[in-house]
Amino acid sequence: MEVNKRILVTGAGGFIGHHLVKRLKAEGHWVRGVDLKHPEFETSEADEFEILDLRTSENCLLATRGDIDQVYNLAADMGGIQYITSVHAEICRNNILINTHMLEASRQNSVRRFLFASTACVYNRAKQDTADVTALREEDAIPADPEPGYGWEKLFTEQLCQYYYKDFGLDTRIVRSHNVYGPLGTYEGGKEKAPAAISRKVALAEDGGEIEVWGDGEQTRSFMYIEDSVEGLMRIMASDYRGPLNLGTDELISINALYDLVAKIAGKRLTKRHVPGPQGVRGRNSDNTRLIQVLGWKPSISLEQGITVTYKWIESQVRKTAPRRVPVAAD
Ligand code: NAD
Repeated sequence: MEVNKRILVTGAGGFIGHHLVKRLKAEGHWVRGVDLKHPEFETSEADEFEILDLRTSENCLLATRGDIDQVYNLAADMGGIQYITSVHAEICRNNILINTHMLEASRQNSVRRFLFASTACVYNRAKQDTADVTALREEDAIPADPEPGYGWEKLFTEQLCQYYYKDFGLDTRIVRSHNVYGPLGTYEGGKEKAPAAISRKVALAEDGGEIEVWGDGEQTRSFMYIEDSVEGLMRIMASDYRGPLNLGTDELISINALYDLVAKIAGKRLTKRHVPGPQGVRGRNSDNTRLIQVLGWKPSISLEQGITVTYKWIESQVRKTAPRRVPVAAD
């Protein structure tokens, strides 16, 4: 791994950004974190942490000042399936402003390398219409029909990164992450992702009770533990590959099976009740052939290992905030 770099992490108050800052500090780098907010559950270990709204060019110039070697551009308006399927204009406007100004500020301040956090939501939806889906290869994004809103703006910024390299020589990296989960992530409030939402629901459910599942629960996904995500981001930053790269696991699981796994870890017997709700594409998996070619590495932490740690953390959080349910006579 690289040593003694000056590194800017945007979105350092968020889930992946906060974990990344911790790891970069542990590796001995100098780190500036920037976000609209401080991390929710711990204090940032960044050398400097600045509260800046990166939707303006002035703030992006401030964030990238002072001889920065590497930018991990993670700041984004984003959330789980409910959020990204219902909010389109605002997500696009916010993220296009952040990414456009961050690229230009990085160019003006002569940043050496710029990594853009893209997403599996850029992939063409026609390639994701069955639950036993063929894993997505990097070339499956174009011709384009990505997730409305969030997927379109991410795909556009991927292109913009390539234009900044071609026209200005800004050295860019593009990472298409697939569903990241782990402790210290949002688990309530409407922006949480499936593993966190399911863990919260299971933690709150009584043994033998019922639990709500959006849709029929047969849609499939792969999920990556936060340690693999951070490791992958750092390895891709250090690599010499400028094209888009998948970063995910290929351990495909249905949402129903994910509920069962979390319930097993919790030691609870629960009945699923299927209710109408957003589901996203029918199936999505990550083909890691190119990632392995480029890095000689791929995410390897199993879902059971990762979810066990994540469930325990969310369960402890839920226990802190929710008063214990007292059975009443009619129960
Ligand atoms: P997160 O929401 O926890 O973190 C994003 C951070 O960006 C937040 O702390 C937010 O406050 C900050 N931010 C938003 N608008 C800002 C602004 N105008 N100025 C400054 N900061 C702003 O999300 P995350 O899960 O840590 O994701 C990080 C990145 O990785 C995002 O770009 C996301 O699109 C991408 N990604 C995440 C996943 C995942 O499963 N978590 C999957 C694919 C891609």
